[in-house]
Amino acid sequence: MRGLAIVLCLTAASALAGPVVVLDPGHGGAQAGANSPKGLQEKALALDLAMRVRAILQGRGLTVHLTRSKDVELDLKERVKSANALKPDLFLSIHANSMPTRRLRQNTSGIETYFLSASASGEQAKKVAARENAEAGDAHAGPQSDTLAFILADLQRAEAHKDSSRLAYAVQEALIAKTGAVDRGVQQAPFYVLMGLEAPAALVEVGFISHPDEGAKLGEPEHQAAVAQAIADGVRVFLEQLEAREGKPSP
Ligand SMILES: [Zn+2]
Repeated sequence: MRGLAIVLCLTAASALAGPVVVLDPGHGGAQAGANSPKGLQEKALALDLAMRVRAILQGRGLTVHLTRSKDVELDLKERVKSANALKPDLFLSIHANSMPTRRLRQNTSGIETYFLSASASGEQAKKVAARENAEAGDAHAGPQSDTLAFILADLQRAEAHKDSSRLAYAVQEALIAKTGAVDRGVQQAPFYVLMGLEAPAALVEVGFISHPDEGAKLGEPEHQAAVAQAIADGVRVFLEQLEAREGKPSP
């Protein structure tokens, strides 16, 4: 009887463990990312948002890991490796967008969410991936053919790819509904931090930190709370889709 009780206990415990989420706050340490006109740094915003999303999801019984929980520099490959080791149900990288020239900084705002693709969905998507990939320097994949082979192997996992697209749409739609920001849509691009992940994965640009108004707004705790709530809602919508398909328990 005692043995049976232990087995039942273990079964109940694993059923209660719920989905596992990895959140990846962009940049960190010497890699500050982009800046707002008033000096808000992307690395700090991304970490703050990730911690807010973690608190909401933990409140719903999910297990949530952050790739970094402090202001430390973290290699893009290391993020992927540590995430895979946790065997998560999803991976979400959190960033803020920026524009290179004064005129574009004045005029460009809005939210966009990405999933991995070998080729970018447009010139703008290409530039965003180039900026987010820049911190990898030369240390990343080596010859470009390796990178391409890596992406193609990744895309062969077709179902995971479709799920990444579903995750991106769920997060994007929740963010637009909650914040009323300009909807720049779901896009695709070759982000290093999404390559080789063994889970549905997306990268969200929560707004243009370089825009005078949107950049200031991203620094407001109230707006940060709304953005975090929307990301958590998007995650829930995605996990409910998974549950409907696979009979997995969701929060
Ligand atoms: Zn970034």
